[in-house]
Amino acid sequence: MKVWIDPDLCTGVALCQQACPEVFTIASDGIARVVDPAGRAVPGRTAVEFADSLLESVLEAAEDCPEECIYLE
Ligand code: SF4
Repeated sequence: MKVWIDPDLCTGVALCQQACPEVFTIASDGIARVVDPAGRAVPGRTAVEFADSLLESVLEAAEDCPEECIYLE
């Protein structure tokens, strides 16, 4: 599966990073980014494939996000 963030809705609360630091990081502008498998933070709205083993924690991040701006596809 893939995951992406809408940076226009993100408020930088960082619950996503707490739930799944392998996939989410907070950039220097205070807004979350998705991290690709090589460890690079990607621009907003870019969908990134993540390992099946991380599905549970990515789902937890999406459910915890107060702005509901984490999307799976
Ligand atoms: S939990 Fe949602 S609002 Fe908070 S930093 Fe992550 S994507 Fe942004």
